[in-house]
Amino acid sequence: MIPNSKINRILVTGGMGFIGSSFLLKCCKKFPNIEFINADNLSYSFSPKTQEELNLHKNHSFLKTDICDIDALENIFRNYQINMIVHFAAESHVDNSIEAPLRFINTNISGTFNLLTIVKQQQEKGNSIYFHHISTDEVYGSLNEIESPFTEKSNFAPSSPYSATKAASDLLVEAWGKTYGLKYLITNCSNNFGPRQFSEKLIPKVIHNCINKENIPIYGSGSNIRDWLYVEDHIDAILSLYKKGLFINERFNIGGGYEVTNIEIVKIILGILEKDHGYSGSEMLIKYVEDRKGHDFRYSINNSKLRLATGWKPVASFHEQLKTTINWYVKNKNWWKK
Ligand code: NAD
Repeated sequence: MIPNSKINRILVTGGMGFIGSSFLLKCCKKFPNIEFINADNLSYSFSPKTQEELNLHKNHSFLKTDICDIDALENIFRNYQINMIVHFAAESHVDNSIEAPLRFINTNISGTFNLLTIVKQQQEKGNSIYFHHISTDEVYGSLNEIESPFTEKSNFAPSSPYSATKAASDLLVEAWGKTYGLKYLITNCSNNFGPRQFSEKLIPKVIHNCINKENIPIYGSGSNIRDWLYVEDHIDAILSLYKKGLFINERFNIGGGYEVTNIEIVKIILGILEKDHGYSGSEMLIKYVEDRKGHDFRYSINNSKLRLATGWKPVASFHEQLKTTINWYVKNKNWWKK
């Protein structure tokens, strides 16, 4: 996985979630000699179907763990010789952070601090642990229509309680690198889409509501712009960084390079659902609602650092990936219908 690193046991936090489970499903298959320990507290967004899929892999074990509970984390490190952490676990939905920010402070900041505390303890015992922190482009705040895309050097300017807690956790990781010699990698990705994403997020929500004939709420005028990244491309980008051994205490942005307004993407999805799956007339379901508080206007990612370092690029076109995604939700209603 990482050349010359002798990594054989990886702790993956939040591995039952959307991106963490995609990472595990790919890595368990690709790296049969590595043991993956999945620590997740099975929060509201989890589907038992994901757990069933992961359990098919012999090199995957699941430990129900809350990263806010440092004793539980210490137990894991007592029982397993971990040599790398991939940290996906987070409260991840901006709307929830506006309603109830404390959970975000606890998981995203204190939970990350707990992991870093344990890594430092392990380091003091002579066990060096690589730390990959999964973060978001939202730490950089918002762009207008003509501003240049975010680079790794863009200033942090988070707008929501979610992005503020992610920015805080990024800064903690960097501080552990400078102060305690932590070997880390931070990746800041744009909006992911693909199979196994909980229906609170835009793309699965539109698909679900269209199939269920429910209103499709759109914030404000729908003109906010997002960069979309297919989850499989995201995992490939991460693996391409590992392959280059790029744990050099650096940050890499990962974006799909496809920018589109929210209303455009909703109309594209409804078009595919009509043409390929027979759900017609769904544009009637679109309902414009009061804008989200502190709503960022545009996210846009400059990928050049990642591309130059690894040669990575998205595998297929955004439209093909969206079709594959929609197909998955239509075929896997038992995954998301509780
Ligand atoms: P998700 O909500 O689907 O998954 C998060 C997982 O973390 C869940 O399985 C949940 O049970 C677990 N979790 C939450 N609190 C926990 C706690 N206290 N202890 C242990 N486990 C806990 O989110 P996701 O979309 O898979 O996001 C994964 C990571 O990627 C997050 O760090 C998020 O900030 C980041 N990210 C996501 C996106 C995106 O578009 N989804 C974009 C940029 C960055």
